[in-house]
Amino acid sequence: MNLDEQLQPALEQRKQRYLYRQRRCLQSSQQPTLQVDGQPCLSFTSNDYLGLASHPQLIAAVQQASRSYGVGSGASHLVSGHSELHQQLEQQLAIYTGRQRTLLFGNGYMANLGVISALLERQDVVFEDRLNHASLLDGGLLSQARIQRYAHNDVVDLERRLSQCAARRRLVVCDGVFSMDGDLAPLRQLAVISKNHGAWLMVDDAHGFGVLGTQGKGTALQQGLDQSDCPIYIATLGKALGAYGAFVAGSEVLIETLIQQARTYIYTTAMPPAMAAAALAGLQLLKCESWRQDQLQKLISTFKAGALQLGLPLLPSDTPIQPLLVGSAKTAITISNALQQQGILVAAIRPPTVPKGRSRLRISLSASHTLAQVDRLLSALASLQHQGLLSEELD
Ligand SMILES: *Cc1c(COP(=O)(O)O)cnc(C)c1O
Repeated sequence: MNLDEQLQPALEQRKQRYLYRQRRCLQSSQQPTLQVDGQPCLSFTSNDYLGLASHPQLIAAVQQASRSYGVGSGASHLVSGHSELHQQLEQQLAIYTGRQRTLLFGNGYMANLGVISALLERQDVVFEDRLNHASLLDGGLLSQARIQRYAHNDVVDLERRLSQCAARRRLVVCDGVFSMDGDLAPLRQLAVISKNHGAWLMVDDAHGFGVLGTQGKGTALQQGLDQSDCPIYIATLGKALGAYGAFVAGSEVLIETLIQQARTYIYTTAMPPAMAAAALAGLQLLKCESWRQDQLQKLISTFKAGALQLGLPLLPSDTPIQPLLVGSAKTAITISNALQQQGILVAAIRPPTVPKGRSRLRISLSASHTLAQVDRLLSALASLQHQGLLSEELD
């Protein structure tokens, strides 16, 4: 059999199980009202939580920086791709997150792969929350360390596992805000347990940085964790910050170690300097304009109150990620398609991104949404519920 003949049956099977994934084609910038596949849509699908992805100041920063620094960085950081804009961004992020130093990575996926595989080896153990982001699991796999997955947010399960483990190095890893559930990790407790057992705590705050805590400084600072409580803090620049890329924050020694050893840092082209300029502009907005976080909180409570009143199957979340648990992949796709027919875009999240029987609509809110737009979403959901589409149904 040739390549296509071998691959085709698996594609067919995916389609039959409602697990086939298709891309929509965006014809505008990322914002609440956008043009998709030739149609105007109201979108609740992006991670652009503050509406910075198309902010004039970020656009101007990219334009200006590319005039001075060009477009491509042309080399890896360690060869000649590390520009003064990267340097400035690393310094600003260190001050902002209250850490000694930071290091930029191409994106969050590469940061997670690079950090975990640089710190652990075969004889070590990584403890991962069962609902951790795929990149954290893949980082564990790449490191060849033994992976122990503890029950979601279950500090008792984690402590039991830690106390039975005598490995050389032990790393506890979790999302700060869980990307498909929207709930928070109990970071204070995780920090205490990790310290007590001589393990290191690493937090991936892709969805918390920019959104939670004073000035959007993220879940670690919000829960009072300094560098000694959470020695490895990772966040992305492509979500709330509106740009692209990621950074790791921690001690001087951690950062120097990663520069020497993180393969996804060493063997890849540096992000374009203009993208660092965009992130710097985003950071500046975080520092001096807090109305976005306030607006976001207002939208979150409006949506939650409305959904509660309708009796929708909301998961417990106080973040802009507001999932409706519908159960089967088929139901999730059906609802998402029905919403799109009404001009509303909501992502159907299915296995393997979430466990079987836990498919959901992942509604994500942004500070650039209006209350009227949230009301429009609620009325659309109410009408689907009247048609009996929104009742939970298991695979
Ligand atoms: C999005 C995400 C990543 C990956 O970040 P990218 O910059 O998009 O590669 C990593 N971890 C979590 C929890 C995420 O949600």
